[in-house]
Amino acid sequence: MYAKPDSHPMTTRIARAEDAMDAALKSLSYRLTETEESGMEPTRQNGALSAMRNDNARGEAPAPAPEIAPLPASAQRVPEAIATGRPSREEAEAAVRTLLRWAGDDPNREGLRDTPARVVKAYGQIFGGYGQDADALLDRVFEEVEGYSDIVLVRDIPFYSHCEHHMVPFMGLAHIAYYPTKGVVGLSKLARVVDTFARRLQTQETMTAQIADVIESILKPRGIAVMVEAEHLCMAMRGVQKAGVSTITTQFRGAFRNDANEQVRFLTLVRNKS
Ligand SMILES: [Zn+2]
Repeated sequence: MYAKPDSHPMTTRIARAEDAMDAALKSLSYRLTETEESGMEPTRQNGALSAMRNDNARGEAPAPAPEIAPLPASAQRVPEAIATGRPSREEAEAAVRTLLRWAGDDPNREGLRDTPARVVKAYGQIFGGYGQDADALLDRVFEEVEGYSDIVLVRDIPFYSHCEHHMVPFMGLAHIAYYPTKGVVGLSKLARVVDTFARRLQTQETMTAQIADVIESILKPRGIAVMVEAEHLCMAMRGVQKAGVSTITTQFRGAFRNDANEQVRFLTLVRNKS
């Protein structure tokens, strides 16, 4: 049974805050493990970890409330995360259950029972960019069109990303132009470069620069222009609550950097949707 909203609201709130503390402490212990590899003193490391386990145990003891989910199996043993630096699937699912309780819902009700597993699976896709190497995507240059040196423009590349501040989606279109020197890449490769960076926690500014950086470093073009226009749901849903506001970021390098005519040419080609 889930606690009624009016029954002991304080107790419920404290229990949830403790859950959030557990999650925070666990993630802290992962970070400590990472520092161990970089030569942190082992005794201090062990002391810190066992102190955290004690804190966790203290948090669990006064929790007879029925809405507290059972301890994940991973809490009974040394988590893989300690060995690998990355939490196990069980730990990730437990974290989702914690957030569901934090939001005020009951992770054990029928509609939410499989949600942690679904969220963790979805994360594999929407944050799949961490496992992808954008440099490798551009490695194959089509030499046969090497004689072509005028502008190459790929516009309206759709993307879906998540802002790193709120983990809320932002989405929109990316436009990329460059003047080739040593060759051009398949147009779909540029779309995949955008995708690789979009499927990470991002700021729009960083993503725009990363796209320009990787194209610049691999293709060595005479100039590159990247424009990203996006709507941020964290602005639409919370805070100022303005829907339909589009944020535009640009990066101009090489031939585009100091030549206003080149920038105008790029912007005209992007806007000229004939
Ligand atoms: Zn945000």
